[in-house]
Amino acid sequence: MRVAFLGLGIMGQSMAANLVKAGHEVAVWNRTPGKEVEGARIAASPADAAKGVEVIWMCVSDTKAVESVLYGENGAEASLEPGMIIADSSTISPSATVRFAQRAKARGVEYVDAPVTGSKIAAANGSLIFMVGGDDATIARLQPLFQAMGKQIFHMGETGKGQATKLVMNLQIALIYEGFAEAVTLAAKLGVDLEKLLPLVQASMVRSGVVEYKAPFLLKRDFSPNFPLRLMLKDIHLALDAAREARVRLPGLEAVEEVYDVAAEEGQSDLDYAATLTLLEKWAGVEVKGAA
Ligand code: NAP
Repeated sequence: MRVAFLGLGIMGQSMAANLVKAGHEVAVWNRTPGKEVEGARIAASPADAAKGVEVIWMCVSDTKAVESVLYGENGAEASLEPGMIIADSSTISPSATVRFAQRAKARGVEYVDAPVTGSKIAAANGSLIFMVGGDDATIARLQPLFQAMGKQIFHMGETGKGQATKLVMNLQIALIYEGFAEAVTLAAKLGVDLEKLLPLVQASMVRSGVVEYKAPFLLKRDFSPNFPLRLMLKDIHLALDAAREARVRLPGLEAVEEVYDVAAEEGQSDLDYAATLTLLEKWAGVEVKGAA
């Protein structure tokens, strides 16, 4: 298929590369020049990338970024033609997604929200999991692209439901990781050996994919970004906003938000969100250690 891929960050660059590998004709664009994907045409603007394509796929930071690449200056809107599909793998506001989709639909363009879970490693090896909102026929047309970038699709309902689902998923990741980070901090302070604790955690009902993914990084004290803290904080804000709109209280997530706020103030925004552990360590006067 002919695809415009907009946003070559940690996720987008690998996703676009996997589209090229699968034989699709890809034009890429990134706000900051200098990023490229082997085998893809580098476009000068979102409008340029979107010229003559069947699908415009986005993976940018936040709601404002999506609005800008679609509807800002030199945005993809200038190249929209009836029958095209816009797919968005950024994690953004569900209600803004519905607005963006209405504006596209007025031009005869279908809109699918397709945020992902799986992080940097799954983006690189094409094993992302997509949470999708949109109609069946449009999602069916996107199958070859989903297959090139991911291993599973969950169709959650109409446009906007993919984003709503993603917020619900990241709420859990933030709380599970925080629970794990607090547990290993207390363990260190109480003298419980982390090397002995981890296999127990994963053998018991406490086990989780979050721990499986993050523990090796934590043991190496590698807090380079797989999922930058600033993006998890953005998702925490999106979830709390959606909860306020729906009159739902989330006291656990509000507490985690405070920890992330302090981490951001301390300059950890561009580190992985796993770095929130270092605040707990500082407050406890202990360092969580394991063999590398
Ligand atoms: P990233 O590495 O920070 O990349 C962000 C991308 O968005 C870059 O290409 C950036 O361009 C672009 N961008 C930011 N603001 C923009 C604007 N105003 N206009 C145009 N482009 C803009 O982030 P990422 O990790 O790839 O994440 C991308 C999205 O996927 C986010 O919504 C994130 O929440 C979601 N996500 C990430 C992960 C993960 O593990 N990393 C997992 C699931 C979902 P520049 O290069 O110019 O800054």
